Amino acid sequence: MPQNNPWLRAQKQLRKIAEKINLDDDLLSRLIEPDRIVTTALPVKLDDGQIKVFTGYRVQHNNLMGPYKGGLRYHPNVDMAEVKALAFWMTMKCAVVDVPFGGGKGGITVDPRMLSQNELEVLTRVFAQRLTPVIGPELDVPAPDVNTTPQIMTWIMDEYAKVTGNTSKAVITGKPIEDGGSQGRTEATGLGGVYVLIKMLKNLNIDPSGLTVAVQGIGNVGYHAAYYLEKEGFKIVAISDSKEAIHVPSGLNPEKTLKCKKDRGMLSNCYCVGEICDIKGGTIISNEELLELPVDILVPAALENVIISENAGKIKAKIILELANGPVTEDADEMLNKKGITVIPDILANAGGVCTSYYEWYQNMHNESWQKDEVFDKLKQQMERVTDEVFNSSKENNVTLRDGAYILALKRLQQKI
Ligand code: NAD
Repeated sequence: MPQNNPWLRAQKQLRKIAEKINLDDDLLSRLIEPDRIVTTALPVKLDDGQIKVFTGYRVQHNNLMGPYKGGLRYHPNVDMAEVKALAFWMTMKCAVVDVPFGGGKGGITVDPRMLSQNELEVLTRVFAQRLTPVIGPELDVPAPDVNTTPQIMTWIMDEYAKVTGNTSKAVITGKPIEDGGSQGRTEATGLGGVYVLIKMLKNLNIDPSGLTVAVQGIGNVGYHAAYYLEKEGFKIVAISDSKEAIHVPSGLNPEKTLKCKKDRGMLSNCYCVGEICDIKGGTIISNEELLELPVDILVPAALENVIISENAGKIKAKIILELANGPVTEDADEMLNKKGITVIPDILANAGGVCTSYYEWYQNMHNESWQKDEVFDKLKQQMERVTDEVFNSSKENNVTLRDGAYILALKRLQQKI
């Protein structure tokens, strides 16, 4: 289905805005296809002696704003269409959030849960060797994404240094603190989304106290968003992982819930309210039901294409905070707009990650090390400023927040031509 091909969607999105604002042909031609795509075979000797060949990708979409920047995803669904779209969204995201980076993305088609730690390391090191000619602190700076961890970033940094002799830590971000990572990077995407949401609610004259929230995904982004939202007084009534979703109407404690999931190995029956985790007080629901709950705010924080034309009509949330990349398809987006649902777009909502990746890169390049409070202060200021800019852009152009964000990004890119 073309609506589910994220790259076709991304190109359509760009063409639509280009037409609306009469975008310069030169800029459009530089954005409609990526600058460079890399597909690479990754042979790995598994623990049982067999050799398996995986496929890896890196797409460098555009570098008008600065070095290519974007995560590496390890997932069975990774393919070129997905990586191209994600790289394009990175170009737009970096421009919206005003960091001097371009857009890139990469990944490996693999289910990392099927690999041992040793196999994961070998696969990552082979991938890093293949990427070495096209990455570097001032060329292309990868980062974590779905299923990739700070440890994986360290292996890549290490392999890059071995091959090139360049020991700069700025070749990759999202590293562990002891390997040159930034304080606050782990929390940054979820927390950045919370800063955006609160500022946007203010712009929309909505009182945030006691608003109910459903979060799809309890990974890095979903968990930290839930954690900080709860601290800010929002009520987290549902959360999910790839296997199941739980509904706790009185509001769950994200920290306890995650701990309970880790201890018990599954999310179900982790109905953690306050300090107590009980098997009463909540229910198991399907991931579809989570998306359709009558909450104030829905936070998709897992994968793309989860709100599609088939379920958009059933969404009851008033606001959608897109922390995942591309969770709403274009058809669905139009349906949500018609229903009066406010969508805070991914390229703004989840930009706290790349913002803090920039802080990490900057610290590495200048041999600095900032305290967590300093990182969060900078992040808050930057996310709030950009949220206002996106809001104003949507008002001035009489368009949705998504289109307002795209118009703002394209204006910033135009200035670089
Ligand atoms: P993660 O691997 O830490 O977590 C992903 C979560 O999604 C897990 O809880 C997993 O169980 C859940 N999940 C997977 N499939 C699901 C399904 N079908 N239904 C419900 N839940 C499902 O990944 P992450 O880093 O938290 O990334 C999540 C999203 O945020 C992705 O779209 C990613 O591109 C985007 N994002 C991440 C960052 C970052 O800094 N990590 C920055 C910007 C955007």
